[in-house]
Amino acid sequence: MSSFIAPATVTSERDLVEFSVADGEPVDPRAPKGYSERYIHSEIFKRYPAVQAVIHSHSDAVVPYSISGVPLQAAFHMAGFLGDGVPVYDIAKFYRPQDKRDLLVRNIPLGESLAVLFGSRLDAEPEHAAVLMRGHGFTVQGSSIMDAVMRAVYTQQNALIQTTALLTHSAHFRAPLGEQSQDDQDMDPESSEPTYLTKEEAADATEMTLWSGGRPWRLWLREVESQSLYVNMA
Ligand SMILES: [Zn+2]
Repeated sequence: MSSFIAPATVTSERDLVEFSVADGEPVDPRAPKGYSERYIHSEIFKRYPAVQAVIHSHSDAVVPYSISGVPLQAAFHMAGFLGDGVPVYDIAKFYRPQDKRDLLVRNIPLGESLAVLFGSRLDAEPEHAAVLMRGHGFTVQGSSIMDAVMRAVYTQQNALIQTTALLTHSAHFRAPLGEQSQDDQDMDPESSEPTYLTKEEAADATEMTLWSGGRPWRLWLREVESQSLYVNMA
C-alpha cells in the first residue's frame, strides 16, 4: 500500500509499504507510517484467498446509500457486479469499548467484521463485490487490480445514475400531496420506483464486463499517463 500519503501521489516503490496479511503490521519494522485502515485490506485478503485487490473509497456519490436506507441497486449494465443487493456495514455494531468511534476500521476485529459481509464462503470468491460502510464510504474486492478499479469506478457511477433516476422519477410521478389526481393515486405499482437490472441481467452483465473491461481500463491508464498530477519515477 501507499505509505501515509494520498495514493495518487505515489511516484515510486519508495512510497510503498509492505504489510503482513496476518496482522496488518509492516513487514519492515522501520517502515514509514501507514494507513490506519489497512485492516480493511488485510482481513479481506486473509478471508478470501481468491481476492487479489481491494479498494476502499470515500466517494460522496455513494455515501448517501449507506445512511438513507435506500438500497444501492444495479442501475446500469456496467454495474452488474452489484448483483441483487449490496450489504451495508454498520461499524457501530462492532466497536469494542476501547475503540474510537470515528468510523475508521482501525484494527483486526473491525476489519474482520467488515470482511465477513462480503460473503460467508471461506477459501472461495466472496459472494459480494462491494460493501457500503455507513457514513463512511465503500469497499470493493476484485480478482485483479483492473477488476477492482472497474468495480470502484462503476460503483460510483451507478450511485450517480441511481440518484438521478430517483430524483427524475420523483419529479415526474410524485405530485405534492393534495395535488394528486386520481391517476396519481391509482399509479401502476411498476411505476413506484425506477427499473433496475434483474438478477439474471446482473449476472450476464457481470460476465460482459469481464471481456469488455480492457477498453475503459486502457483509457484510464492513458489519462493517468497524460496528466502531470501523476508522476512515475520508477
Ligand atoms: Zn475510510
